[in-house]
Amino acid sequence: MPYRAAFLDIIPRREVPTASTIELPRLHDRHTHVSLYAALEGCPDISALSKEEALRALKALPGDRLTIALGWHSARVSFTSQELSSLPPVLIASLSLHGALLSASAKEWLRDSEPELVGRHKDREWCERNVAKLLSLYVRAAGFTAQKLDAFMRRLEMLGVGAAEDLLVAGEDALSLIQASPWSGRIRCWADPAVFEGFSPQAREQVAGLKIFTDGALAQRTAALDEPYPDGSRGLLLHADKDLAGLLAGLARLGKPAAIHAIGRRAVEQALTVIERLYEDGISFPAVRLEHVQFIEEPQARRAKALGAVLCMQPNFSADSRDYADRLSARLRAANNPFRMLIDRAGFCPGNDLIFGSDGMPHGARSALQWGLFPDHESQRLTLEELAAGYGMAEGVCRLRIDEGAGRVERLQP
Ligand SMILES: [Zn+2]
Repeated sequence: MPYRAAFLDIIPRREVPTASTIELPRLHDRHTHVSLYAALEGCPDISALSKEEALRALKALPGDRLTIALGWHSARVSFTSQELSSLPPVLIASLSLHGALLSASAKEWLRDSEPELVGRHKDREWCERNVAKLLSLYVRAAGFTAQKLDAFMRRLEMLGVGAAEDLLVAGEDALSLIQASPWSGRIRCWADPAVFEGFSPQAREQVAGLKIFTDGALAQRTAALDEPYPDGSRGLLLHADKDLAGLLAGLARLGKPAAIHAIGRRAVEQALTVIERLYEDGISFPAVRLEHVQFIEEPQARRAKALGAVLCMQPNFSADSRDYADRLSARLRAANNPFRMLIDRAGFCPGNDLIFGSDGMPHGARSALQWGLFPDHESQRLTLEELAAGYGMAEGVCRLRIDEGAGRVERLQP
């Protein structure tokens, strides 16, 4: 912006209006969970309640069916087994959705259909290994309907998002419902391999690709970082190298693109090493996406580039450097989301082999731009052009006010 630079040279900075209103095409969110979040629309949420308020709200839930409640902050609130015995059938999902609490009557409710979940839901490792199963239970219990999908997609539009990718479509019913809806042209669905296995040939045809996990999440302290968490735990690699190689080789035979979740540096390393070996053996995919890669390092980025992999990252996860200061060292807080390294040194190109999504935490253009334009670390900073290219554009526009002086982005009503 040469004009603006010249302007700044001659006018004292305090007199320069720093806020501007922009109109941007609605974003294409390249990584979220449409069927999951739509099903959870309207579910009770205890995240903003005190423990007493939460118990009161949970006790008032119906006794004749299983309710999914949201917003259990495991580090802040714990419930005694006596308290859980006093509640109607309710599954209380953690903030990250990767873990859950069950009331005593919910355990009864699920004992026959989900015996393993009832027995092992307190085991973080089990939850990470079975996260696709857990998420699809939320969708089945909460119910995914055309009305909910409509409400969810309209809310995304309000937030400045016009198209979305569902990285783990809940099942064939959910896929059919999406395909039959007016939103079908704006939603691409990926599937968990086990869910995909049960699909009809037509449903298989419609799936964009297959999604697998190699590590957990920062929220659960299960992302496979390269140093221990303050509590001494080390994060979780979900597969041994040779098992991951076997899994990916099996998926390659299906001829679909692969999306591989890898957050910590150890998970990124494993994913790259295994893909390199498969390529050497002549086993490849139509496309490989690496999801999140928050702690990818430069040599790894160069290897990913050489493999032709696409990195799908979340600018809003730059907030993790602040939100998870309790579990990330200063080095890791600065290493999170190294966009400048990826673009300026490793040669990734937003919109081409570097794409952006939100993972729904939270959805919307405001959060994407807030954390993309004004992150805590320079190494995380993106330009507006890079953000727009990395998301890609959908139908419609959203209006935002960008206050450069205050480092703040606000969404304006359309
Ligand atoms: Zn996700």
